[in-house]
Amino acid sequence: MQRIFNFSPGPAMLPTEVLEQAQTELLNWNGTGMSVMEHSHRGKEFVELLEKAEADLRELLAIPVNYQILFLAGGASAQFSMAPLNLLGKKNTADYIQTGQWSEKAIAEAKRYGKIRIAACSEKQDKVRIPAPDAWSLNSDAAYVHYTPNETIDGVEFHWTPQTGGVPLVADMSSTLLSRPIDINAYGLIYAGAQKNIGPAGLTLVIIRNDLLGEPLPQTPVLYDYRVHVKNKSSYNTPATYSCYLAGLVFAWLKRQGGLTAMAKRNQAKAEKLYRFIDQSDFYQNPVHPECRSWMNVPFSLADSQLDEKFLALAEQAGLANLKGHRLVGGMRASIYNAMPPEGVDALIDFMKDFAEHQG
Ligand code: PMP
Repeated sequence: MQRIFNFSPGPAMLPTEVLEQAQTELLNWNGTGMSVMEHSHRGKEFVELLEKAEADLRELLAIPVNYQILFLAGGASAQFSMAPLNLLGKKNTADYIQTGQWSEKAIAEAKRYGKIRIAACSEKQDKVRIPAPDAWSLNSDAAYVHYTPNETIDGVEFHWTPQTGGVPLVADMSSTLLSRPIDINAYGLIYAGAQKNIGPAGLTLVIIRNDLLGEPLPQTPVLYDYRVHVKNKSSYNTPATYSCYLAGLVFAWLKRQGGLTAMAKRNQAKAEKLYRFIDQSDFYQNPVHPECRSWMNVPFSLADSQLDEKFLALAEQAGLANLKGHRLVGGMRASIYNAMPPEGVDALIDFMKDFAEHQG
């Protein structure tokens, strides 16, 4: 059976090479006579696997030694509470940047634990736009500033890193981590659910600077205390071992592709091609200002929303799956993470062209 192009926002497409390797190794991993899934997380083989995955990730993102890498569970949603519980401290106040659906969820959760200020909020005039940094009202006494570099649902992405004047920067990078190089030194804490660019669901990556490993709020459950996971090398309890294994294969695959500089070039080219097509068409429309359009998630609408169902059905028949937009915003959304080959975007554009010509 031929594999289709899967435009799902997550769980998303994984590189075929990675899946093939996993298939080959499924029954007998590393010559051990059993699947990696059947290994103890405390056994030598799995400990080595996790160390290798960590080393590869450190290399890919150039993560300095004063940052810890954690392989956790609970999804990015658990980080919505874990970050404030661990970082609010005595200051008990933090600034959040509201740019879409996911930052709103992070804000709602953080409000359970401390005084949360909205330091900036997306503007919608003709198109959605991230407010310019000089319009942000940052509190220099905040415990941290939280933002969402890529809003998966809204298709809004920061193509710059906020300056916070020394206040630790916290980023929910769920749908952008590993899509391009970033300067880790600009961040205090980064977290990301794996099911987009990293691997399968079940794994959450956390990258945290050592000086932020302070005393959490008193009500923090043991499993939500970063220090516990650092001390136990992500194995205080059983990590999502198979997801860790697959993430490790994805990291090795990324290195073979030429690392994140090569991925960035490829991702930018894919996204720009799709936006260019949408912009020159009078049948399709993207709601985001060109300066903050996402390279990973491209929402678009048809000139006539009554054609949405037909568009989706015909796309599916053409081997282009999961193009339906999020239920909160409607329309369409093409998620084009690292594993989506350029041919997938070309096939989508060809299909969209054809659909507009014959149905529009
Ligand atoms: N933040 C962002 C930016 C996301 O895209 C998602 C998932 N789509 C989440 C948080 C929630 O992630 P999870 O389902 O892993 O909790």
